[in-house]
Amino acid sequence: SPGLYIVAGPIGNLSDLTPRAAHILCHADVVAVEDSRVSARLLRHAGSDRPMLPYHDHSDEAVRARLVARMAGEVVALLSDAGTPLISDPGYKLVRDARAAGRSVTTIPGPCAAIAALTVSGLPTDRFVFMGFLPAKGKARADALAEVAGLRASLVFYESGPRLAAALSDMALALGEGREACVAREITKLHEEARTGTLAELARAYAAADAPPKGEIVVVVGPPGEAPVASADDADALLREALARLP
Ligand code: SAM
Repeated sequence: SPGLYIVAGPIGNLSDLTPRAAHILCHADVVAVEDSRVSARLLRHAGSDRPMLPYHDHSDEAVRARLVARMAGEVVALLSDAGTPLISDPGYKLVRDARAAGRSVTTIPGPCAAIAALTVSGLPTDRFVFMGFLPAKGKARADALAEVAGLRASLVFYESGPRLAAALSDMALALGEGREACVAREITKLHEEARTGTLAELARAYAAADAPPKGEIVVVVGPPGEAPVASADDADALLREALARLP
């Protein structure tokens, strides 16, 4: 039925495209995309010959209005270069306007680098804050980190290889050197890896590397004060030790 379909694509491995996503891509009247060269590959993989149309949230208002008008009688699919649309990717304004116009909005969920990184990080997943890309530098960056430093939640950042070492050292400074973290790189791809350690350890390791890491990166930082709560036995031992030190 007509409306807007938010279609998640793979974040590397094409086999992660879901059958439902492939079905919509094959039957859409138009596929709104970021980069038509990137999406052409995926459409070919899905066996789709549907027409593409470039879309960004900073596209002309008229482009968005035309798409919203088409959703009244046509199937409009929104696809990102990678993963889930709207997550550090275009789409929010399109969904907002589609809803405001009373169009049907359907999601075809699938891969998302932030969620994939959380699942391999070994860090708490009960509460997390998606931080997207940190501001490049300066006060905006320090403010963004200061704002979440005390939150009892894991923090998820998108990063690029050339910026990773500096980002880790800024995080160590603002969030605490001892916080456990995970650098997840090239998830679902050939050179997939996840490195864990404290922010200080990871910052040092990447600063000392000959070259910045290649590929796409997610940094997950665990909540502050990850140290396990002391058991009653621990508390007794600590108390005995403290008493023994009394003059
Ligand atoms: N919409 C995407 C999603 O659902 O994850 C994110 C798009 S954002 C423009 C691109 C960033 O996502 C990259 O810079 C990287 O931080 C992260 N990313 C995407 N694919 C990744 C992968 N395979 N491994 C690690 N990080 C990835």
